[in-house]
Amino acid sequence: MYARRLDHLPPYLFARIDELKAEKQRQGVDVIDFGVGDPDLPTPAHIVESLCEAARDPATHHYPNYAGMLPYRQAVADWYASRFGVSLDPVSEVLALIGSKEGIAHIPEAFVNPGDYVLATDPGYPVYKTSTLFAEGNVHEMPLREEHDFLPVFDEIPAAVLERAKLMFLGYPNNPTGAVAPRSFFEEVVGFAREHDVIVVHDNAYSEIAFDGYRPLSFLEVDGAREVGIEMHSLSKTYNMTGWRIGMACGNESVIAGLGRVKTNVDSGAFDAIQHAAITALSSPQDCVEESCRIYQERRDVLVAGLRDLGFEATAPKATFYVWLKVDNSMAFTTTMLNDAGIVVTPGIGFGAHGEGYVRFAITRSVARIEEAIERMRGLFS
Ligand SMILES: *Cc1c(COP(=O)(O)O)cnc(C)c1O
Repeated sequence: MYARRLDHLPPYLFARIDELKAEKQRQGVDVIDFGVGDPDLPTPAHIVESLCEAARDPATHHYPNYAGMLPYRQAVADWYASRFGVSLDPVSEVLALIGSKEGIAHIPEAFVNPGDYVLATDPGYPVYKTSTLFAEGNVHEMPLREEHDFLPVFDEIPAAVLERAKLMFLGYPNNPTGAVAPRSFFEEVVGFAREHDVIVVHDNAYSEIAFDGYRPLSFLEVDGAREVGIEMHSLSKTYNMTGWRIGMACGNESVIAGLGRVKTNVDSGAFDAIQHAAITALSSPQDCVEESCRIYQERRDVLVAGLRDLGFEATAPKATFYVWLKVDNSMAFTTTMLNDAGIVVTPGIGFGAHGEGYVRFAITRSVARIEEAIERMRGLFS
């Protein structure tokens, strides 16, 4: 009944973990869920107000502009200028997305022919691989290893892959490892992309979730980046707006145009009222973002200190709301945590073969719940 391309999709491990979690809850277990990369904090009130006001205006009730309304694209360009010092033409270099996942899922359709290679980090956000498979491309996994700061090593890519490589997915600050990339790495990416004629898609969903004074970069800040690629960005993590579905693709004009052509034939744009609220989010004072970071930083510190106290080698991430913890066997650890402590974490293997040996904690739960989790683990691991 199903098309063969569905057979080619890797098993969705996360759905299986959701089932196991639901079963525990049915048994009456008070489950502490560190599995989901979805902020527990609400969308700031001024953004919600802006949506309500815009939704009352019948002018927002029609089909939106495919590329996004110009005031939204202008607000994105203004935000890139003030936050990163990157100037973008809102007409040709900014495209509204229905969340960045949507852009990631569609971009191979515009550039990848059957048999072309897409370079994707492993571990990585699962949609990099599945979107490639939908476009009948081949995935070449670039391992991220701790001894190389979880950055890919381009010299390891075989020549036969390089010859047919069309596109590369990257994302720093990184989900799931929490790693960040220095400017020199992005410079290396530009050089690599030029040499091998590869389109770079940098996924920057976590640029605003950072700690200890660290300010993540935009890929587009680096000289030449705009000639080789684009950056996908999103309001989801920055403003606790995961349910709203609004993001943006920025950068190379031809790449933006290709993605736009696919989207014009697939969706009809993001609801105008949501774009109005997104303008409010991007153009208002950013205190709400600072407050979110302060909350995540405190949670990170409590979790990392607790894990170290239990004897784990835990590293505090400089950005993202993920703690990537080294364990012996990721599935065994995840199963023990759920069955014996009622705690959900995500096994690293769910993000790719090189995620094995780690689990991911999303610190989207309160300090009190994190402390409770550490107490439950105390009986298990020490
Ligand atoms: C959350 C996330 C996204 C998708 O965010 P949207 O809600 O679709 O904007 C994309 N990439 C990574 C790495 C993420 O963690």
